[in-house]
Amino acid sequence: MMNIIVVGAGIVGSSVAYRVAQGGAKVTVLEADRIGGGTSGVSFAWTNSNNKTPRPYHDLNVAGMRAHAALKEEFGATPWFHQSGSLEWRVDPAEAAAQAEKVKRLRDWGYAAEFIDKKRLGELEPEIALDAVPDEAQIVFCPEEGWVDPVLYAGTMLRAARQRYGAALKTGVRITGLETRNGRVVGARDESGALHEADLVINCTGRWSNETVSQTAPNVPLAPTIGFLVFTPPVGVALRRPFHAPDVDVRPDGAGRLMVRKDSLDDRFAALESRTPDCEEARIAIASAAEILPGLKGVKAEAVRTTMRPIPADGLSTVGPARGVDGYYVVVTHSGVTLSPFLGQAVADEVLHGRQRPELEAFRPARFQA
Ligand SMILES: Cc1cc2nc3c(=O)[nH]c(=O)nc-3n(C[C@H](O)[C@H](O)[C@H](O)COP(=O)(O)OP(=O)(O)OC[C@H]3O[C@@H](n4cnc5c(N)ncnc54)[C@H](O)[C@@H]3O)c2cc1C
Repeated sequence: MMNIIVVGAGIVGSSVAYRVAQGGAKVTVLEADRIGGGTSGVSFAWTNSNNKTPRPYHDLNVAGMRAHAALKEEFGATPWFHQSGSLEWRVDPAEAAAQAEKVKRLRDWGYAAEFIDKKRLGELEPEIALDAVPDEAQIVFCPEEGWVDPVLYAGTMLRAARQRYGAALKTGVRITGLETRNGRVVGARDESGALHEADLVINCTGRWSNETVSQTAPNVPLAPTIGFLVFTPPVGVALRRPFHAPDVDVRPDGAGRLMVRKDSLDDRFAALESRTPDCEEARIAIASAAEILPGLKGVKAEAVRTTMRPIPADGLSTVGPARGVDGYYVVVTHSGVTLSPFLGQAVADEVLHGRQRPELEAFRPARFQA
């Protein structure tokens, strides 16, 4: 039986752990902190392939969206997955032209994206003030998109991996490097110096993936960006799906809470600076959202989070073995919420059965290695 260590219990590691355990491996998940305590717990978590290029990356994201929907059959209920569709409108002529071009490309690629009028927008989202949406706005509805509660998803996958397939989860274990013998991985060492033996180590530590292996394996060059998220308290605004208006994105976040972000606010953060809910940026974000959702007027942020997107240097996912170290496999990606259920299955196919999944060919770590 293959002995596999998965490092990291975010949405990626939990998906990989579940599928490799299901495939018959002896699996141990090692997590420094807690399930979903990394980027997965502070993500806009929109499942989409709305503007993903080139084509292989678009296809990968579509595969992720389909894999989320398919989990219903396997789990009976998937309360973490909200396939609500999503809305986007653009007003500025240049932005509307780019949006029209994008929709044409998406439709050519077989993706569900339709132009709708304001009347239909009002039917879909009665809480939106239609007079805040200019008549010339170009509105697009993508009915197959949605959003995920990533931490519930990760918790469910890990519980299923443990209960159904005997996987083990150890939290409070921080890996600091691989242990190799004659160029082959024999395990991973934690910060106390203890060795966790394995035939294969799969690094799913996202934005920390290079620190996790330090100099013991080739690193994946990352170009992370900062994201600032604002969370309202429960409000009486029954938003049904994410929307993307000019410079403000809002989605439901469960129990009546809404999550708000603004691209232009992200630019104010040069690093992972902490903020309090009464900060100026939170007030600006909620004021922008309240122009569209009047029910938010007077609402104050309950929480704010400054987070970092785990983006490989060329913007694309990085999935596969690293050249030069046998027994080491790395998965680091932005759009990890969308991609995870597909990646879990594809990675399991590769590491357990030696099948090279063609969907992953454009995303190998070796592209960064000389
Ligand atoms: C603001 C923002 C918005 C986003 N919006 C979207 C979106 O709309 N749609 C989408 O699909 N994606 C989105 N993403 C990206 C998505 O959230 C990430 O791609 C995804 O969460 C990455 O998951 P992960 O499991 O790889 O990483 P993480 O969730 O960070 O998990 C890594 C885990 O590894 C653990 N760890 C770290 N170092 C070690 C170590 N040395 N030893 C042991 N454990 C360790 C951490 O504690 C953590 O639990 C967004 C991200 C951000 C920041």
